[in-house]
Amino acid sequence: MTEHNDGRAQARSKELFAAACEVIPGGVNSPVRAFASVGGQPPFIRKATGCHVVTEDGAALIDYVGSWGPALLGHAHPEVVEAVIKAARDGLSFGAATAAEVDFAELICEFVPSLRGGMVRLVSSGTEATMSALRLARGYTGRNKIIKCAGGYHGHADMLLVAAGSGAATLNIPGSAGVPPDAVHDTLLVPYNNAEAVAELFAAHPGEIAAIIVEPVAGNMGCIPPLPGYLERLREITRREGAVLIFDEVMTGFRVAPGGAQERFGVTPDLTCLGKIVGGGMPVGAYGGPREIMSKIAPLGPVYQAGTLSGNPLSVAAGLETLRLIKRDKPHEALEAATLRLTKGLAERAAKHGIAWTDVAVGAMFGFFFVAGEVHDYEEAKRSDLDRFAAFHSEMLRRGVYLAPSQFEAGFVSTAHDDAAIEQTLAAADGAFEALAG
Ligand code: PLP
Repeated sequence: MTEHNDGRAQARSKELFAAACEVIPGGVNSPVRAFASVGGQPPFIRKATGCHVVTEDGAALIDYVGSWGPALLGHAHPEVVEAVIKAARDGLSFGAATAAEVDFAELICEFVPSLRGGMVRLVSSGTEATMSALRLARGYTGRNKIIKCAGGYHGHADMLLVAAGSGAATLNIPGSAGVPPDAVHDTLLVPYNNAEAVAELFAAHPGEIAAIIVEPVAGNMGCIPPLPGYLERLREITRREGAVLIFDEVMTGFRVAPGGAQERFGVTPDLTCLGKIVGGGMPVGAYGGPREIMSKIAPLGPVYQAGTLSGNPLSVAAGLETLRLIKRDKPHEALEAATLRLTKGLAERAAKHGIAWTDVAVGAMFGFFFVAGEVHDYEEAKRSDLDRFAAFHSEMLRRGVYLAPSQFEAGFVSTAHDDAAIEQTLAAADGAFEALAG
């Protein structure tokens, strides 16, 4: 361990965090970045390349946060950066139609099974994508109620801040002050991986439920894959009930397979929400589906949705280049092999030190819990030993590995995580588990 990679040697980050806390609530622009649940202070990041983030203290950390998902091709991929620079020279924003956004929309629709032959609308974040898809589902069906899973996170729109995962789960505020009761009155909850609970809600509210929104692989209560048959059953129920099935693939899109979870598991939703990788590190979200539903959006139809920076040329350049590279280089097989190597290696080392542990890998997404046996939903995820997670997190950081500072997040592998990076991570884990067990 070098001193630079020692999480305790964070003098500059500490200084910056103190300054940040004076002018930014909690010192961060998104709550989970604050390290509240793992203790310590967040490293401030100066730059990132490949699979490393470099802190203001000079430490190069192996990064499994990947900007919370977008960095599938590693940080600052030269071709993506070049595309953004080239676009920037032609102007930062026009608020008008561009040729590149047509190419981008065509490519997104080519990748994602449910969008083939359909349409996609670009927005600027995953939150906007889910919020807009739900408005569309309500406008299309003329119904008000929606279903979400406990521990599912779909961004911070009022109606979705009910039993929310991710940062809300981390900080133990699964709802939010400031959300009027009326805003969540029509939001119904089910446990993840429980299709019968969904069927029961449809039986209890006939003709009232517009949509179910679900992460096809949950990534915001830790990483939890769908049980065999779960997504298929959601498809059957929503089809039978005339409701819209929305896959929130903001995290899973282009990550668990080129066409996302819907391609991997062979279940096609009505609407798909995208974010993260689709923007290649720039602010992009997207939602789309069949023409019949998408033609309800303004200006074609009565469902309003708009955005000054939607289809921003720099964001489009980054996203388009990222998708082109995925299409050209076909990285998913190698990504999956690297992810499995990582999780298998972690499991072996946890077992060696007698640590209760379970892990999951789906494509280039992974997670782990400090509990023995499989985890299927949020309630089970909460059984993980959170103190152990916090200790593991700081032991790994001390050893130069940057994991998401919360048990209720997924980890992300990129094409830049080569054998050396995985081996280094496993060596760090060996030491971290030893410290935990000792
Ligand atoms: N949906 C899922 C599954 C997410 O993981 C996230 C963010 O982590 C969102 C939606 C919200 O996306 P954004 O943070 O870009 O608004």
